[in-house]
Amino acid sequence: MTLIESPTSDKAANDHLIEIVRDRFETLGATVEIDTQSEFGDHLVARWPGEGKPGLVIGHIDTVWPIGTLVDMPYREENGNIYGPGVLDMKAGISATITALDMLRDTCNWPERALTVLINSDEEVGSPSSRSLVETEAGKSAYTIVMEPGMGIALKTARKGLGEFRLRIEGRASHAGAFPEDGISAIEEMAHQILHIQALKDWDLGTTINVGLIDGGSARNTIPAEANAVIDVRVTSADEGHRVTNALHNINPINPETSLEMTGALHRPPMEREGPVAELFSRVQSIGAELGLELSESSTGGGSDANLTAALGIPTVDGMGAVGEHPHADGEYLVVSELPKRAELLAHCLRNL
Ligand SMILES: [Zn+2]
Repeated sequence: MTLIESPTSDKAANDHLIEIVRDRFETLGATVEIDTQSEFGDHLVARWPGEGKPGLVIGHIDTVWPIGTLVDMPYREENGNIYGPGVLDMKAGISATITALDMLRDTCNWPERALTVLINSDEEVGSPSSRSLVETEAGKSAYTIVMEPGMGIALKTARKGLGEFRLRIEGRASHAGAFPEDGISAIEEMAHQILHIQALKDWDLGTTINVGLIDGGSARNTIPAEANAVIDVRVTSADEGHRVTNALHNINPINPETSLEMTGALHRPPMEREGPVAELFSRVQSIGAELGLELSESSTGGGSDANLTAALGIPTVDGMGAVGEHPHADGEYLVVSELPKRAELLAHCLRNL
């Protein structure tokens, strides 16, 4: 799968991989539905009948790596690790899912509970086209397992909520030398606003704010009529999400002659380690213990589809995919010897949860 590069932006590549995965699931007896998309790759839902509410396994086929990355970061096995773009995040998570299902079928241990597997093609950009599908399937499920990479071997039981906001400021252009008094500098206003926005952070509560991109102005000698900023927001609790969202949307100009327009929202609610999440983790932990695995839990500032499912109150555990290092970074790799253990853990969870 890693040899077929699949950046989120490449619909054809993602569609191709979805077809390959579809074949594998159909061979395993699933009824597969394809959620056809125009902008992004298609999404897939594979269903196996059974008792009660289904268990739901979620993975994504897209990666952050552009086509051609394989030239500089070739797929290779070395010293017990496999390297390659998207190998850890999270093509191996999908392979582990298929392997787990193969194991269950081959050992005649297919779970009695109904089972659904959802594979989407736009997770790396925040699941804009698959969010409703993820939420619908999670809402029907007894529990959700997300096959993102682990934190080492630790599973993930808390993820920060994530939002992207954009601020656009309009002032008035004028010649900076001849008629400076006629101009209203959008950049000067932006400078004030950046300090105000950054100050919304609260590191004690885990709230981070990053004005990550700015642009504006048209020439050195023109008073800038326009300035723009893109803001990254991460929060650990829904309360903090509301506080920051409200503050950003109620931003006031320092210079009343400028106009400010703030857009954006939290597109991933926080995955909070509480009731259903904690309970599911402790059950998975004891299933792991029976297999000789000492599973711990971790939290991360990065988002995944687990944010969506946990926010609905669905018992969710994330990070059950491959074990390795450097997702989204040069040298991304997975540890080969851990992969069968992850597949076995997933198989036992599906059998016993
Ligand atoms: Zn991922």
